Amino acid sequence: MVADKKAVRQRFRDAVFRRDNYCCVLCGWGDDVEKLDAHHITDRNDIPNGGYVLENGITLCRPCHRSAEDGVFSPEELYRVIGSSKVKAFAAAENPSITHE
Ligand SMILES: [Zn+2]
Repeated sequence: MVADKKAVRQRFRDAVFRRDNYCCVLCGWGDDVEKLDAHHITDRNDIPNGGYVLENGITLCRPCHRSAEDGVFSPEELYRVIGSSKVKAFAAAENPSITHE
């Protein structure tokens, strides 16, 4: 990936937040955008190009993010919430050019 990593991360975060209306998709919290996280449903080391695609991102507040990292929510559950799947996420990650902004 040639693009600056920080820019890629920022764009991913913005796109995920926008799709989820700047609220945690699990509990609906959205009082402070600075305290929201764009969680990678499939770990960025386990998906092509770091998985910086909408299909692999989900907006979570800090407590829900921690729960997700702890495995309280399965990736399948999280994908379902955003209308995605591991297959879709991998397809999008392998072809970043077709990813919507
Ligand atoms: Zn939450």
